Amino acid sequence: MMIDSHTHLYLNDFQSDIKEVMLRADAEGVKKFYLPAIDSKETDNLLALENKYPDKCFAMMGLHPCSVKENYKHELSLVYSWLQKRKFAAVGEIGLDFYWDKSFADLQYESFHLQIEWALQFHLPVVLHTREALQETIDVVKDYQGKNLKGIFHCFNGSLQQALEIIDAGFYLGIGGVITYKNSGLAEVIKEIEIKHIVLETDAPYLTPVPFRGKRNESGYLKYIVQKIAEVKNISSEEVEAETTQNAQLIFG
Ligand SMILES: [Zn+2]
Ligand SMILES: [Zn+2]
Repeated sequence: MMIDSHTHLYLNDFQSDIKEVMLRADAEGVKKFYLPAIDSKETDNLLALENKYPDKCFAMMGLHPCSVKENYKHELSLVYSWLQKRKFAAVGEIGLDFYWDKSFADLQYESFHLQIEWALQFHLPVVLHTREALQETIDVVKDYQGKNLKGIFHCFNGSLQQALEIIDAGFYLGIGGVITYKNSGLAEVIKEIEIKHIVLETDAPYLTPVPFRGKRNESGYLKYIVQKIAEVKNISSEEVEAETTQNAQLIFG
């Protein structure tokens, strides 16, 4: 059994064939799906998919750093009211993203800090998105040491040193399709990391693993990530599946 700790199966990309996508994932042994939020435009679709598969799909709530714009205060108020209303799997995905646009960096920091406070308030893990801002994100998380903040650095793609800093801060590394990309360097880093610090993710429909790179990603492709981790760490696929499942259950409860 595998758990996809990060998949956007509620997006329009899957609107026409979600049933088949879920069946294919099930046939491959992917039994649980954690759905990260992006912003309020997607909330209805996010909650509808969870509602359709209540034993398999689990929604997170949060404001993605790329959705932190002029209206961020309104967006954040919606996130907070949802967190008060019902239980979510995590606060996510939240974090810092300086890849497309740095002009909202201050607002991203403000939104990130606020949502971490809410995660602590509601006793939830955080699922962190970071792009061109990994060290900055690690530094933010370090400020909360001793406060029992836990979670996942989703789509981790940093150095060994950064991986160790993340583990030291009590966080897990979310590993997806990037590990199958030849020039990413991620395989060499993960080789040195114990499996007890790793969770699986597809980030579908994005970051499709080899051999389907360039096409739409889906949760059934998790096996290619498992195979690659098993290969670089020289352990069995079964061990990768069992350990990463246990890790995801520890985080999400
Ligand atoms: Zn992300
Ligand atoms: Zn994502």
